[in-house]
Amino acid sequence: MTLSFDGLPPLRDVVARHGLDALKALGQNFLFDLNLTQKIARSAGPLDDHVVIEVGPGPGGLTRALLASGAKKLIAIERDTRCLPALAEISAHYPGRLEVIEGDALKTDLAELAAGAPTRIVANLPYNVGTQLLIDWLTRDVDNPFWSSMTLMFQKEVGQRIVAKPGSNHYGRLGVLAGWIAEAEILFDIPPQAFNPPPKVTSSVVHLTPRPSRIPCRLDDLERITQAAFGQRRKMLRQSLKPLGGEALLEAAEIDPTRRAETLSLEEFCLLARRWRDARS
Ligand code: SAM
Repeated sequence: MTLSFDGLPPLRDVVARHGLDALKALGQNFLFDLNLTQKIARSAGPLDDHVVIEVGPGPGGLTRALLASGAKKLIAIERDTRCLPALAEISAHYPGRLEVIEGDALKTDLAELAAGAPTRIVANLPYNVGTQLLIDWLTRDVDNPFWSSMTLMFQKEVGQRIVAKPGSNHYGRLGVLAGWIAEAEILFDIPPQAFNPPPKVTSSVVHLTPRPSRIPCRLDDLERITQAAFGQRRKMLRQSLKPLGGEALLEAAEIDPTRRAETLSLEEFCLLARRWRDARS
């Protein structure tokens, strides 16, 4: 058999040998092209001085790229037990560098796994839980994030929501939250044909790093304000923010009550969150 650049069998063969038919319920769209997985791994930044955590390694395309790109301690969390034998082969090829955890990433505390070491999260996320995982990691401890970067693949539309700025159709709660905590950018897109099976939509690789300093306000207040404001995004703020003080709150923040949520900057959302707290104390 012809081996790949890393001395392991091509992914197509691995998938066939282990009978890893993709399961839709687990969001399985596998990448077989090791050039592409290496491009993702490289875009995460230097890996040899970090703990690298991958969620959903599947048959191991990105896992192999991360190890070949220098990850010395890679922890991969996979829910599908069918993938474990294939991942064990990778572990054996890179002794002592890959730890595979069988489990549900939604119930796994990544900060605990990182154990205080500088950490990069790199993953081709299952679409059905990708946004929830991102929010969990972003909000784990906003004053002291356990991750120094996240390089994550999402559906393009989710990527656009993460990096969205005021005035954009994609701007909403996710963009405000991500923008408050992190600097986020879309690095590149990946077309459906690159995956097996191909998903319906294009994917985007998004890179996030924690902001060195955040605009002051509390996470729970910001979440409440954005929930109310974007919950009725077509309405004027005096209407959508009525349960939180409406016109009086907007006046305290010197924000025109006829504006709509999608026009407010991050600074203005944080100001509203602070004024809302002032009003209640
Ligand atoms: N990393 C592989 C690649 O790039 O080819 C597979 C990516 S595939 C989009 C998503 C992977 O996440 C699948 O292997 C799936 O089994 C796994 N997965 C789905 N839900 C999960 C969960 N809650 N926790 C951990 N892994 C999960």
